Amino acid sequence: MNLQMPKLADVGILCLALIYQYAQAQFAVQEIADGVYLHYGVHEQISIHNRGDISNIGFIVGDEFVAVIDTGGSRGVGESLRREIENITNLPVRYVILTHAHPDHIFGVSAFDSAMTEIVGHKNLNNSLIQRGEFYRDRFINEGFSERDLELLPQKIIVESELKLDLGNRQLNLIAVKTSHTDNDLLVLDESTKTIWTGDLLFRQRVPVIDGDVLGWLKSMEMLSVYDVNLIVPGHGLVATSWTEALADQKRYLEKLISEVRELLSAQGSIQQAVKTIAKDERDYWLLFDDHHGQNVSRVYTQLEWE
Ligand SMILES: [Zn+2]
Repeated sequence: MNLQMPKLADVGILCLALIYQYAQAQFAVQEIADGVYLHYGVHEQISIHNRGDISNIGFIVGDEFVAVIDTGGSRGVGESLRREIENITNLPVRYVILTHAHPDHIFGVSAFDSAMTEIVGHKNLNNSLIQRGEFYRDRFINEGFSERDLELLPQKIIVESELKLDLGNRQLNLIAVKTSHTDNDLLVLDESTKTIWTGDLLFRQRVPVIDGDVLGWLKSMEMLSVYDVNLIVPGHGLVATSWTEALADQKRYLEKLISEVRELLSAQGSIQQAVKTIAKDERDYWLLFDDHHGQNVSRVYTQLEWE
């Protein structure tokens, strides 16, 4: 008999396979409105253990087609979502809508590679992927993800300002937003159920990440509240049933950042001082505060410095 110790690399591959199997078994979607399905991401940083499954993703089923909204942070997450769709309907996925180019929303897209499926996004989405894609991929490879996990598909449908998609007796209204969380944020409104998917224009529970224009973001939030909706699906965190409920924490946080940074700037305070002191009392309200708050302060400082 030839008994050999397994190689360390084999053990690693086995562990990853087990993580993926476990994650697939745990992956759940819920029907939050008629024909609207949501999977909640976890409130963690991206890691191989959570497969990049940290953002809210889902799908909407019409009479003829399915539209996916965001795909998670790796092909594995996209595949889990695709299996859930196949359990619920035989209808084909016609559209995969990406709400913006952040890696936790897009890297599952290759699970939907089919002649039938078109990738839809904001007019700036492609540019952002060209500029950032390589950087995101390197970061994920360092975390242990494989090249296959991180393949992207070309964007076919570009939303300049507004676009309607028909899923068969069901209209989705896509709205391209001015620079806010990023420069390529897209809203998706399901007209049948008045459910709106905000992408990362809205964070709940998990601290917002500023990667665009904080003043623009506040303006977009005002614009959001004109939409008459029944259900609001944020990019991270729990769904809400009113704009007041949905926006309150994020509005308070962003406004505080702006006003305290302006105050410090007028007293000629440095960026280091800003990072050390500003809006620290927000720490109790948010998950992952220490991971992102410092960077948010730096961003706001650099933006407002030139006012
Ligand atoms: Zn984002």
